[in-house]
Amino acid sequence: MKIRVRYAPSPTGDPHIGNIRTALFNWLFARQNAGDFIVRIEDTDVKRAIPKSVEKIFESLEWLGLNWDEEPCFQSKRLVLYKKYVRELLDNDKAYYCFCTPEELEKQKEKQKKAKQPPMYNRKCRDLIKKQIEQRIKKKIPYVVRLKVPLNEEIEFKDLIKGKIKFDSNTIDDQVLLKSDGYPTYHLASIIDDHLMEISHVIRGDDWLPSAPKHVLLYQAFNWQPPKFAHLPLTLGPNGEKLSKRHGAMSILEYKDSGYLPEALINFMALLGWNPDTEQEIFSKEELIKKFSLGKIQKTNAVFNIKKLDWLNGFYLRQMNLDELTKRIAPFLEKINLIEIHPVKSDKVGAEKFNGVKDEKYAIKATGETIGFDELKKIVFLEKERIKRLSQVGEVADFFFLDKLEYQTGLLAWKGQNKENIIKNLSLAKDNLSLINKEDWNKIKLEEILMPLTKMTGVGDLLWPLRVSLTGKEGSPSPFEIAEILGKEKTLKRICQAIEKLKI
Ligand code: GLU
Repeated sequence: MKIRVRYAPSPTGDPHIGNIRTALFNWLFARQNAGDFIVRIEDTDVKRAIPKSVEKIFESLEWLGLNWDEEPCFQSKRLVLYKKYVRELLDNDKAYYCFCTPEELEKQKEKQKKAKQPPMYNRKCRDLIKKQIEQRIKKKIPYVVRLKVPLNEEIEFKDLIKGKIKFDSNTIDDQVLLKSDGYPTYHLASIIDDHLMEISHVIRGDDWLPSAPKHVLLYQAFNWQPPKFAHLPLTLGPNGEKLSKRHGAMSILEYKDSGYLPEALINFMALLGWNPDTEQEIFSKEELIKKFSLGKIQKTNAVFNIKKLDWLNGFYLRQMNLDELTKRIAPFLEKINLIEIHPVKSDKVGAEKFNGVKDEKYAIKATGETIGFDELKKIVFLEKERIKRLSQVGEVADFFFLDKLEYQTGLLAWKGQNKENIIKNLSLAKDNLSLINKEDWNKIKLEEILMPLTKMTGVGDLLWPLRVSLTGKEGSPSPFEIAEILGKEKTLKRICQAIEKLKI
């Protein structure tokens, strides 16, 4: 049997971790078994639909590299088909028309609540005769179609994670299949599609387990073979609370925007509810495809721990090759308006001529200069240990792209150093640095010139103010490395600016 699985989101908001983890587990299972991974948009609940959700679902999958195998299916385009199958159930006495009004149903519910009974439809319309039905339809009384759940049956199915599940059919409501607006309910559309798409395994969150008996009954009603079910444990926040922003949980695209790497998120999500019974924590996608197994999914809920994600992200950042890291960092510098990437991506003509990221040029907004890939790479090399997320590049490296730095002059002082002494030392540094030829301007030469001076001034008293004058920051790489990248002209200019600042 060919393995075919589906990810079936409803477009009711931005896809979040729990939701996309379901997609990931399905995808891994498909890839591992040379099967198909299908995306189906369950958009029949018109009231709950949120615009742009669909785009965001696909953007999230694309960003994570969870590729799908067939043209995605949209349930809203298949309404005629669902109606045809409802007709079949009605004709075979497996479903019935229900004309009860929403007010009536509400009253019933309240009564049941008072009597501490589970809310269930009282089956008033279940045994209407043909004539009664025809009259009501003629009068245009709105109706829904409900499943005629068989009475007094014990039904059993096997869940690949939860094991054997038994239920008494009397506890299952005569659920609505077709709503009064003509749209199918989730239950109906989902099982018809799973059947027609030849889905072999339904892998989804635990929160759908209560729906599984309804689905089993529907398969029975159609006389179809049900797929295999696997209900994944949910992801909760620490303390067993429902996962929320408070725990650092965001939508997938928010993670993208905050500079997390897809590699880290994939690794992180895979470990939410699955582990291979070893101490291993780092898994590439390829490795996950090999090692993932439904049998090793835990039964208890998974706990979301943002610190682990941060740790994984730092790990993937540090081991990424520099070209790749540079390529991924550039858009984050562009987003905070420090640079503009050329050719501009939306420029079609430019894009055609574009031979890959190494041809990119970066226009520095504040100065009007343009640097190339290799120059940006040097900056990234210098700062990469200081960031845990791509978006932090602005915090640590903005000074490379600014014309004038903003900082408090107090920051220029090394341990109680007074103004006069700072001015004296900065001037000393400037005078000596200005003697270096442009061609010799590199960190080794700079060190060679400046270090002997520290015998006189003290190391901190010379290098600290120098470094702050170049960066405006409390922490950064050494002044030699920074000055090499800034170049002679800018370095001297920044030292002069610091001296001026101190003199005010
Ligand atoms: N549309 C449902 C959801 O949003 C799909 C549930 C299922 O996988 O059957 O999660």
